[in-house]
Amino acid sequence: MTQARLASCIPLPLEHKVLVTVIEKAKDWALMHGVGMRDKKHFTKDAIQIAPFVLLPSPFPRTEFNKAIELQPILNELMHKVAHDDDFLEHTLQNTLQVDEFTAKLYEIWVKVKDEGITQSLSLGLFRSDYLLQYPEGNKIKQVEFNTVASSFGAISSNLPDMSRYILRQLGHGDLIKNMPENRALSGLCSGIIEAYDLFGVPSAIVLFVVEEVSYNICDQRFHEFEISEKRPDIMIYRKTLNEIFEETTLNDKKQLLLEGYPVAVVYYRSGYEPAQYPSSKEWDARLRVERSSAVKCPSIHYQLAGTKKVQQALAAPGALEQFVRAELCGRVRDIFTGLYSLDFDESGERAVDMALEDAERFVLKPQREGGGNNLYGADVRAALLRMRRARERAAYVLMERILPPTVAGYVVRPGGAVPPPVTDLVSELGIFGVIIGTRDKIYCNRQAGHMLRTKLADANEGGVAAGLGALDSPYLL
Ligand code: ADP
Ligand code: MG
Ligand code: MG
Repeated sequence: MTQARLASCIPLPLEHKVLVTVIEKAKDWALMHGVGMRDKKHFTKDAIQIAPFVLLPSPFPRTEFNKAIELQPILNELMHKVAHDDDFLEHTLQNTLQVDEFTAKLYEIWVKVKDEGITQSLSLGLFRSDYLLQYPEGNKIKQVEFNTVASSFGAISSNLPDMSRYILRQLGHGDLIKNMPENRALSGLCSGIIEAYDLFGVPSAIVLFVVEEVSYNICDQRFHEFEISEKRPDIMIYRKTLNEIFEETTLNDKKQLLLEGYPVAVVYYRSGYEPAQYPSSKEWDARLRVERSSAVKCPSIHYQLAGTKKVQQALAAPGALEQFVRAELCGRVRDIFTGLYSLDFDESGERAVDMALEDAERFVLKPQREGGGNNLYGADVRAALLRMRRARERAAYVLMERILPPTVAGYVVRPGGAVPPPVTDLVSELGIFGVIIGTRDKIYCNRQAGHMLRTKLADANEGGVAAGLGALDSPYLL
């Protein structure tokens, strides 16, 4: 069955007065429970404004939701193995490294640390696998990407279903709450940090969050700190930028990373995933120092490399998955992949270029970047490919088949937005969190850890919430 449009959980539109009242309630609920972000235009640390959210939970097929959850430990392990396969990473990234300076810098650190001898063989992964439903294929989930660094919104997404439940009750639809799945992303992710801390096994050690110069997504980050502190009052958490890490940390003779005299047990990156977060060589030096240290890194540099779009594309190539996933599971994993093509300068790369030039609307062109807003769509794909036809730069990109998700009607509530907002056509992207801790040879923990749903206007190409385009949402299982 194919369906281009899913029914909203209750019939829309709502009556004007009901809508205005319920939006006021929802906004206050959101503000009082930290469904918030800092204001980018008028930045102050004295106020939080609502994060954009969808008023009612958006529908998502139950079987596909469950499938995504069941797949998560398999995908965690896949990425863990890929990250520890030096030859695969080298072979896969070799052309990209020639033309993508950022990936090359990460890779350089990895090679350096390996040559010196790895001090900490454990890695902590707080991953998020993202999906859109593909309506031409019966609304089946298709993987958009796999995030291995700074996977965000686990915390706010854990609070949000309570708001949706409250709103449904206020609208007299409390009976529908049973279709909203529990979400324990925050506690799941934090327990990963705590387990890694305990494996480090030094009682006076601290946890270090690597943060941006300015953290707009402060609620999401702080909830992790509050949660860890509540569960484990003995663990102190520090927040430092890469620049501060450069200035304030040292390595001792045991390769412990010291901050204010304390050894760092776990380094959790909420920054460091895009070039702008390394404005000078100091930030790169800080990254190298951390990587050299005995701290457990979330992610370690090879996890970050395994999370590149290029690796995603390579895994979709025939025969690749079989190297990492047990034969009986390969089919289930391959089923969530959509067409991904290398743009290297070889026969298959040329074929991919020709195919995209013929019908650019069918594709998305992706560079090796994170954080949203970097991809090209439609006419821009064509223009970029024509421009790069013979430019080496081309190898820094992968070509991906465009997924066509079904739409659903809904209300997006934004800070400063119109009240009431109009009913609009939306599409949702599901993210499943995963936690993994392990070394090359041993996996200590591997589990799924809750979900997030992020919804954008149907006609927008991208929907990053932090980037200001998407809205936080909760799934309503059909
Ligand atoms: P990033 O790491 O920057 O988040 P993504 O691969 O997630 O990169 O792409 C950003 C956004 O672009 C996604 O959230 C999704 O909205 C859109 N997008 C990416 N790939 C596709 C695709 N194949 N089909 C449709 N939309 C896509
Ligand atoms: Mg990403
Ligand atoms: Mg993404």
